[in-house]
Amino acid sequence: MFREIAPGLYLQPSLLYQTQCAVLADRSGVMCIDPGFFEEEILAARSLSVRLAREARTPLRVLLTHSDFDHIAGAPAFPDAAVVTHATWDERNEARARDALRRFDGEHYIARTMPLTGPVRRDIAIAADGEELGECLLYHTDGHTSDGLALFHRPTRALIVGDYLSDCEFPFIDVGALRYRATLEKFQGLLASLGPALLVSQHGTPALGSVAIAARLDESRRYLDALLQASAQSDTPAEAARRSAGAWRGAIPDYLYERHLENARIALRDLAGA
Ligand SMILES: [Zn+2]
Repeated sequence: MFREIAPGLYLQPSLLYQTQCAVLADRSGVMCIDPGFFEEEILAARSLSVRLAREARTPLRVLLTHSDFDHIAGAPAFPDAAVVTHATWDERNEARARDALRRFDGEHYIARTMPLTGPVRRDIAIAADGEELGECLLYHTDGHTSDGLALFHRPTRALIVGDYLSDCEFPFIDVGALRYRATLEKFQGLLASLGPALLVSQHGTPALGSVAIAARLDESRRYLDALLQASAQSDTPAEAARRSAGAWRGAIPDYLYERHLENARIALRDLAGA
């Protein structure tokens, strides 16, 4: 179910991972961001987006914040919309994501009428930070995946960041701890230069107002700095993970500990310069 949290900005969290689908409508067009995971969610995203675009007689675009499986599942439902991604789109990660989606659906007996069977169609590639598309400014993000895309929507002053600055998961580092750290610095600069009024992370709830937004950044930075420091002082990922586990809200939940351990493996590798 979509909720309009600012004029022309609608959010629908998925039942899986609370993955946020965002729909932006302004005078330049309608943009549907990470269009849902389960088919009901995808259909709701499509009907809202198509209706808004038809009523305003503006173009409809789909934007994918990155190539992970919970973000691309809805892409086949939009055959007529231009698909926007970052120019660094990681085709190998997308292939793994399609396989992960096939396995997830198979394991849970999920039937789809619009399955993602082949590569996602990509029509518009964003290559430079600050590039404009309609009423949005776009930026590359790196560290979770290498192909992340964040955007600032001028009319609502919403900063939509993909899988960063979440309130329900600590930083998930899939490609590089130092690259992730650099992305947090980029966000620091964007908060200073753009002054966003709200922040949408693609997992969990939005942060409203500059104080809450800054707190999100601080929380991610504290965790990552503790992880990097522990990794510099440890010989094994297990030791680095144990030393830094308290840096995320006092303790990493047991069901996410393996992800934390994987972060430590990547941090040790990065610090060793491998
Ligand atoms: Zn995700």
